[in-house]
Amino acid sequence: MTATELQRASAHARAATYRAAVVYDFTSPLVVERVPARILEPGQIRVKVEASGLCHTDIHAAHGDWPVKPAPPFVPGHEGVGVVEELGPGVTEVACGDRVAMPWLGYACGMCDYYVSGWETLCLEQKNMGYSIDGGFGEYATAYARYVVEVPTGIDPFDAAPLTCAGVTTYKAIKVAGTRSGDLVAVFGVGGLGHLAIQYAAIAGGRVVAVDVIDEKLELARELGAEFTVNAAREDPAAAIQRLGGAGQAIALAVSPASFEQAYRSLRRGGTLVFVALPPDNQVEIPIFETVLNGITIVGSIVGTRTDLREVFRLHAAGKTTVIREIRPLEQVNDAIADVEAGRVPARIVLRP
Ligand SMILES: [Zn+2]
Ligand SMILES: [Zn+2]
Repeated sequence: MTATELQRASAHARAATYRAAVVYDFTSPLVVERVPARILEPGQIRVKVEASGLCHTDIHAAHGDWPVKPAPPFVPGHEGVGVVEELGPGVTEVACGDRVAMPWLGYACGMCDYYVSGWETLCLEQKNMGYSIDGGFGEYATAYARYVVEVPTGIDPFDAAPLTCAGVTTYKAIKVAGTRSGDLVAVFGVGGLGHLAIQYAAIAGGRVVAVDVIDEKLELARELGAEFTVNAAREDPAAAIQRLGGAGQAIALAVSPASFEQAYRSLRRGGTLVFVALPPDNQVEIPIFETVLNGITIVGSIVGTRTDLREVFRLHAAGKTTVIREIRPLEQVNDAIADVEAGRVPARIVLRP
């Protein structure tokens, strides 16, 4: 055996089996158990997971909520952050000991028109962490070296985890919205995504109005830079935002079609509505007449590229963003899911394997 083979064999022995949270079917809780480690294929790496954020998408995956369903058994998690422990054949992009993030875009083709024009997130050949390939809800995870993003030194892995989806997704949504200095930006939903969207909108120069139905979340929104807040349980947020002059951009982050419709009605003429959340109820009613006459733009935004995530990490390393999160052991994943679903979590839960 060469030194590299020996190193590989010993790393593999350490991780021969590991604890992970597995979805066996869409109606049962996740099972935390030991699973066998896979042999690394060319281009793959094994990462010892330090932190793994719980995103609403993981819950939809575990419940099989969406038209395209994952195939059980699988391990959710697309906010995994950890240290590279083993390199598969041919890997040159990262080294053992590097701290990396394993985002939703787990693999792409590397050559289609989408990919080469800066839209790798639209690649039709893509594989997704925690959905079509096993994700970060375990002591170890397998990832493609080319699609992980290095976490700069100095960033706490428990901050890096929520930035890996919630951060990059809202950062990209604000980019897609085209927010410019002085624009009124309405952020609908102040959870794991919303608390970061508020900060990115403010960084872009926007004046932020945050909408939610829970007063504590609105208080958090103000602490993070929202200039105005509206409790949608007490008043019509669209009317309240129109009184402020109407939103130049509205970011729909709450998993309720009614909230998307409120976001639409909150826009000023020429405004842009960005669809980000994915409610299981997949329909929203938008009037054609007003959309045409008011020159409204509606755009969907899905996660972000590796470049977007690098920018997100740089902003955080520079002290420009605050991540609100709560750490729980991986064993409590089912309680964590119940708490997120009941709205009992201020922002993000990060699981510790
Ligand atoms: Zn996510
Ligand atoms: Zn492609």
